[in-house]
Amino acid sequence: MGNAAKNSRENTGAQATNFIRNIIEADLAAGKHAQRRWSGKPGLAPQQLAGPLDPARIRTRFPPEPNGYLHFGHAKSICLNFGLARDYGGRCHLRFDDTNPEKEEREYVESIIGAVRWLGFSWQDEKEDNLYYASDYFDWMIACAEYLIESGNAYVDSQSADEMRQSRGTLTESGKDSPYRKRSPEENMLLFRRMQTGEFPDGAHILRARIDMASPNINLRDPAIYRIRHAEHHNTGNRWCVYPMYTFAHPIEDALENITHSICTLEFEDQRPFYDWLLERLAEGGLLQRPLPRQIEFSRLNLTYVVLSKRKLIQLVEEKHVAGWDDPRMPTIVGARRRGYTPEGFRLFAERIGVSKSDSLIDYTLFEDCMREVLNESAERRVAVLDPLPLVIDNYPAGQSEECFAPNHPLKPELGKRAMPFGRELWIEREDFMETPTKGYHRLYPGNMARLRHGFVIRCTGCEKDGNGQIVAVHGEYLPDSKSGTPGADRYKVKGNLHWVAAADACPARVRLYDRLFAHPAPGAGERDFLEDLNPDSVRVVTAQLEPALKDARPGASYQFERHGYFVADHVDSREGAPVFNRTVTLKDSWERPGG
Ligand code: ATP
Ligand code: MG
Repeated sequence: MGNAAKNSRENTGAQATNFIRNIIEADLAAGKHAQRRWSGKPGLAPQQLAGPLDPARIRTRFPPEPNGYLHFGHAKSICLNFGLARDYGGRCHLRFDDTNPEKEEREYVESIIGAVRWLGFSWQDEKEDNLYYASDYFDWMIACAEYLIESGNAYVDSQSADEMRQSRGTLTESGKDSPYRKRSPEENMLLFRRMQTGEFPDGAHILRARIDMASPNINLRDPAIYRIRHAEHHNTGNRWCVYPMYTFAHPIEDALENITHSICTLEFEDQRPFYDWLLERLAEGGLLQRPLPRQIEFSRLNLTYVVLSKRKLIQLVEEKHVAGWDDPRMPTIVGARRRGYTPEGFRLFAERIGVSKSDSLIDYTLFEDCMREVLNESAERRVAVLDPLPLVIDNYPAGQSEECFAPNHPLKPELGKRAMPFGRELWIEREDFMETPTKGYHRLYPGNMARLRHGFVIRCTGCEKDGNGQIVAVHGEYLPDSKSGTPGADRYKVKGNLHWVAAADACPARVRLYDRLFAHPAPGAGERDFLEDLNPDSVRVVTAQLEPALKDARPGASYQFERHGYFVADHVDSREGAPVFNRTVTLKDSWERPGG
């Protein structure tokens, strides 16, 4: 499919439908969110209700915790949330879920912003700039917590962590009420205020929702909502020594931002009853506007040959199994960019895999196919000889040179042609010569003719060897009337078609041939340590000879190296006039598919 077709499909929203789209379309048809008001920024109900009708038909959000680099799973969530907002006349917010004081860092914030932009999405337009930090909402969260206390829906528990764990019960056994559960709202309020002023050490008290210790859903057995933590926060400094629990903060963040559809991964399904309970109480109290956000869960992305757990990715970096977060073998967005994977490829992949509620393992070849499909359309063709062997054209005068012309893109003549100098000394691929050919071998061997692609037909006359019998050069003669593109050039019927570069003009360059980081489709499956499944040959570095047009490749530009695959000029290691290339993906899937 052409790029134009792909773009128009993205813009018209004519994607394959899925259960989330069905929910949104039903909500839109029913006008469920049509009366919401939006003050132009996040806030409690009184502020929002004083604003005009919300111009966004839906609001979604991507809410990363800034405690690591984004990976391919996050890319799925970004494409989903920003894609839905785009398709339904909505807005998608980028919200840093930074309510945990100890773990977040500015470096991650910058990197996440860059990753979302790189994927082609924006949280800004002429009217709105929806980049938010959940830590800006702490005052509102305190107001919500205090309302729960006043209305008898929360209490300060002073049991130890151990006692609380023991009284929570199990899946088959109900929990036991805390001895502090009957504290009066006044006493609870006083204690909660004292928690806020820093009078108590970490863990001395905790604020809990008062729901039901006998609930079959353990998450409803009086979950903790605010804890004491004497820690400095990257945004709020030392202002707070109490911090909200994620399960309390997240629904409130959604509601303050007028989120209509709060899309998350399946492990939060059991939290949904608490999400709804909490927002209902706060809406009853007039703190939050109705209709309330609705949480919708989908299954997370799992890919064969890839690990997508932050913990494991950190381990790969810290133990130096890779060169860093942006190592081109890492399944991070920064790694993908250096690998040459494209934003269009990610969006196509997200669309192809769709969303569902059942856990699935996606074949890595599907991901690679999406990248190939996009690169086949967009990447200009170039010639690179990766395992160079000299070829001497003995009947071509030394010191002479002439131009041959090669199309930049076979499917796009409008991209024109480039000149490739031809001369007496060339580089060809070592595998394109055999002294004694095997059956069916059509490339160069003594006496055989083959075409130098976009150049001349040559006849091989022999080879030179060193003292160890290693072939060090091939010799041949060219047929002057066989030049590609000249009249009658096709009178020679040859089967072999080789790529080459002229030695005098070639640009030697480092080329990194990447392969999968893991050799096993399910790294660490069973009892194995996932590190045991590392592919020992996941990168091979060669010195290639490139055609001169590649010398000034723009860092980040992708090319198809004919016969070899797609390569990108590494934007970190390339220098002016001295590019370094990374292999993004081969032309064809070279890995066996299980069972096929
Ligand atoms: P990890 O589990 O890898 O540590 P996380 O869920 O802790 O990731 P967050 O920063 O909390 O990372 O994630 C931001 C958003 O990305 C969340 O909405 C989360 O559901 C989504 N997300 C994370 N991993 C995946 C995945 N593998 N597939 C789809 N969405 C994901
Ligand atoms: Mg998380």
